[in-house]
Amino acid sequence: MSKIKVMSEVMANMIAAGEVIEKCASVVKELVENAIDAGAKNIKVNLEAGGIKKIEVIDDGQGMDEEDAILAFSRHATSKIYKADDLFFVETLGFRGEALASIASVSEVELETCMGEVGTYVHLKGGEVLETRKSSARKGTIITITNLFYNTPARLKYLKSETTELNNSISYMERLSLSHPDIAFGLTNNEKTILKTSGGNNLLKTIHEIYGLNTSSNMLEIKASNDDFEISGYIAKPAVLKKNRNHMHTIVNGRIVRNNEINRAINDAYNTYKHEGFYPVVVININVDPTLVDVNIHPTKQDIKMSKIDELTRLLYETIKETLYQNLLIPDAIFDDAKNKDQGEFDETFVAEQLPNFITSDKNLEENEVPEVNQLILNIGYEEDNDVNLEFKKLKLYPIGQVHKTYIIAQDETSMYILDQHAVHERINYEMITKKLQEQKTYTTQMLVPITIELSAADFRTFMERADVLKDLGFEFEEFGINTIIIKAHPTWLKEGNEEESIRTIVDLVITNEKKFDKTKFLDNMAKMISCKMSVKANEDLSFEEMEKLLNDLVKCDNPYNCCHGRPSIMKYTAYELEKMFRRVL
Ligand code: ZN
Ligand code: ZN
Repeated sequence: MSKIKVMSEVMANMIAAGEVIEKCASVVKELVENAIDAGAKNIKVNLEAGGIKKIEVIDDGQGMDEEDAILAFSRHATSKIYKADDLFFVETLGFRGEALASIASVSEVELETCMGEVGTYVHLKGGEVLETRKSSARKGTIITITNLFYNTPARLKYLKSETTELNNSISYMERLSLSHPDIAFGLTNNEKTILKTSGGNNLLKTIHEIYGLNTSSNMLEIKASNDDFEISGYIAKPAVLKKNRNHMHTIVNGRIVRNNEINRAINDAYNTYKHEGFYPVVVININVDPTLVDVNIHPTKQDIKMSKIDELTRLLYETIKETLYQNLLIPDAIFDDAKNKDQGEFDETFVAEQLPNFITSDKNLEENEVPEVNQLILNIGYEEDNDVNLEFKKLKLYPIGQVHKTYIIAQDETSMYILDQHAVHERINYEMITKKLQEQKTYTTQMLVPITIELSAADFRTFMERADVLKDLGFEFEEFGINTIIIKAHPTWLKEGNEEESIRTIVDLVITNEKKFDKTKFLDNMAKMISCKMSVKANEDLSFEEMEKLLNDLVKCDNPYNCCHGRPSIMKYTAYELEKMFRRVL
């Protein structure tokens, strides 16, 4: 090869490196994925200064012979070293073949690899081979990258702080561990262990190793399928929520992917079980015919496009929603420090400190199965019936009084309860409205004084286009002058007294709903907003009768445990817990 040709190859490698190697984590990613491709079951990543000084990856994969070890750093070695058996990410294979060449062009590399007999050592700098020799016969590969970007100062400048670079690698290794529970991963930085999984092919155990006990003990298993998709994995109970989406892991055919539609479906399924701005921890494996996955994606991105995505999101939504519903939760307000400890949690975790225990309701238990720890059932003595929600409906709560005009204290034979009066009332109204919306027949109240609503020209047009949805609900209205509507009747479930405010809210909601009008979403949002408006607020006096009615209505709810925005509505202290708190028992 002429000198010019060699130079142009080095240049090409450096340009490629600039495109795909942006940070230490991208190097870690390439090296670790090579190790996985080599069939490794133990992969250890050792970083120095978050990878800025050194990245070392040790695997026990099949290793390479001498010829391949040298070819591995050539751009054109693709077909020999990388088998094109990966239908899913076929586009990335071209890159994968070039990855080592690219990394080597902007760093110093030492490779020690062996297929079992004679090992090979290769030392390169800036893409040029400095030394090759025989080495030890340890099966597998050890690859070490130092001086990353030493010859491309512009790139070097873009490397972030040690903490940021390290965090990127941690986050990548966590996701990888969750997508490969069969592989034991290790990650150290400056010789300090940061992540370690055991690789026993037990996903729940891996979740435990990554997130700690508090999370892993609050996971619910899911499993479902339809004609095209198969989903399985674990979803967190609403007791463990995070403040960002990074812990929603979706794995398609073994690859971690990101897809906004999938994330939205998962989040929507948590709808009334959590606050906005909090996200669940989920690890969901999705198996799909590879031909439904669009492979035309950038190698460094994890986005995917998928045909029949609507089918998949519906399956996810329904499965998750059903699973949460079947495990309805009442926070048990016991103070138990031991249970709150959680080695793997980050401070962003939202764990309501005083409600670490949840009583699960296993609606679906087989008849001969005994529900695990079902305190509520044990307390009220309906051992034979497995339906906790049914049990809840049999509860008879007696109000004691109101605290700070905001909370209701109640009791029954076994426990003391604290309830949030607004959350309770909102839940009752939400379920009432939701049921009314599902009824075929609508009942209408004629208004004595019709209300007129003036709109902007654009809003008026949008409103009229979507007006049918309100007519179906039992609203009666017509045009009344320019860009104005007059409303003459409303469905009876709108409470007298604040109907004008509610109607204005509903009209706003019809107009501001996203570009593509989604009726189901609109109705749910409407039910939430109106039930909030109709409900008793904090700082309002309640009579004894009013409290009694709230308690009676709450126990009849399908999900009495949260308001429709996911806030808890009821908390329970059993007599035993009270005794413990006051040290009457030990
Ligand atoms: Zn509210
Ligand atoms: Zn609420």
